[in-house]
Amino acid sequence: MAHDAPAATGPTKLVIRNIGLLLSGALENPVLDADTIVAENGRITAIGKLKDVDVEGASTVVDANGTVVAPGLIDSHVHPVAGDWTPRQSQLNWIESSLHGGVTTMISAGEVHTPGRPRDIVGLKAMAITAQRCFDAFRVAGVKLHAGAPVLEHGMVEEDFKELAAAGVKLLGEVGLGGVKDGANAKQMVSWARKYGIQSTIHTGGPSIPGSGLIGADMVLEADTDVVGHINGGHTALPDGEIRCICESCRRGLELVHNGNERAALYTLRTARELNQLERVILGTDGPAGSGVQPLGIVRMVAMLASLGEVAPEIAFCFATGNTARMRALDCGIVEIGRAADFVIMDKAQHSAGKHFLESIALGDLPGIGMTIIDGQVRTARSRNTPPATKLPSVVGH
Ligand SMILES: [Zn+2]
Repeated sequence: MAHDAPAATGPTKLVIRNIGLLLSGALENPVLDADTIVAENGRITAIGKLKDVDVEGASTVVDANGTVVAPGLIDSHVHPVAGDWTPRQSQLNWIESSLHGGVTTMISAGEVHTPGRPRDIVGLKAMAITAQRCFDAFRVAGVKLHAGAPVLEHGMVEEDFKELAAAGVKLLGEVGLGGVKDGANAKQMVSWARKYGIQSTIHTGGPSIPGSGLIGADMVLEADTDVVGHINGGHTALPDGEIRCICESCRRGLELVHNGNERAALYTLRTARELNQLERVILGTDGPAGSGVQPLGIVRMVAMLASLGEVAPEIAFCFATGNTARMRALDCGIVEIGRAADFVIMDKAQHSAGKHFLESIALGDLPGIGMTIIDGQVRTARSRNTPPATKLPSVVGH
C-alpha cells in the first residue's frame, strides 16, 4: 500500500447514504437523526435524510448498508519519530495499523523516541520544527498527525517560544520528559507557550521508563498545562486522592490513555462525571511505548469505558472525537457542516452478544470497522485489525 497519500485533485463530492446510526461526536447531542452525509472537497456540506439533501453529481457514493457512521477517531497522545517508523519496539507501520482501528487524527506528545534526540535548545527547536514539517508534508496512509512537540529543557526563554510558534510549532511535548521537572519553571514556560498559541501537556504519574520521574498533583496543578496528559498514569497512576485533587482544582483536559492504569482511568471518568465535566475527558494510546503499540487502542478505551464506566457508548465515542477536537481546536471530530469529512464506518462485530451496535459496545466488545474516510476520500475498506463487522459498507458509484 502506498504510504504517501496526496490530496485528491479536482473537485470531489462524497455521498454516504443508508446510514443506520449516525454518531455526532458532540457530547450535547451524540446521536443525529439523519441517514445521509454529503461532503464536498473534503468538508461536510449536508447532513440529513436522503430525500432532503442534494446528492447529484457525486464523485463517490458510499452505501453504508445500515451501519454506523462516526467521526474519525482522534488519538490525543502518540510518540512518532519518522514517518511510519518509531524505533522503540522497532515499530513499523503503526500509524497505518491504527487507521485500521478507526484513528484518522493523531497528536504528538513529543518525538521523544528519536535516537540521540538533542537536549540543547537550538537542537531541540530544530528537531521540533523538522518534525512539524515532515508530518505535515507526508501523511501516512492519509492520517493527520500533528507533530513537532518540543520537550522543555532548562534555559529556554520567552523568545524561544515566540520563535517556535512563528515557525509553525503548535504543541509542547509532555512536560517532565526533559530537564524541566519543577513546577515553577514549567509554569513559566507553559505560560510563554500559551501566550504564542502553543498547546501544552504534562506527563502525569510515576516514571514511564528508567530516567523519567514522578509528577504528582502539585506539579500538574502548578504547571497548568492545557491537557493533563495520561492522568491515569503512563504507566504508574497517582493515588486516587491526587487524581481527584487534579479533577477538582482545575478545568484542564483529562486525558485517559490505553497504555496506562485502567482502574485509574475509570476513577477519573467517575470523578469527571460527578463534577458534571465529561467534556474534559479525552482519549489517547501513548504508543509506541514500552508496552508497545495497540492499533485498536482507542476503540478498546471506548469499549472499556462504556462497559465498566457507566457511560453510554455514544458518549464514550465523544471522548475519542468531539471532546478532543474542541479541546485541541481541530477542524475534525464532529459531524457538523463545515468540518473535515473524516469518518469511521462500523458495525456490531460478528457474534457479539449485543443485540445491536451500541449494546455490543456497552458489553465491552470492539466494533467491527468496515471503512475509513479522510478529507472525503475512502482510505481503507474492511479493517484488517478489528473483528469482522456484521454488515459492511461499500463504494457503489463514482
Ligand atoms: Zn508520559
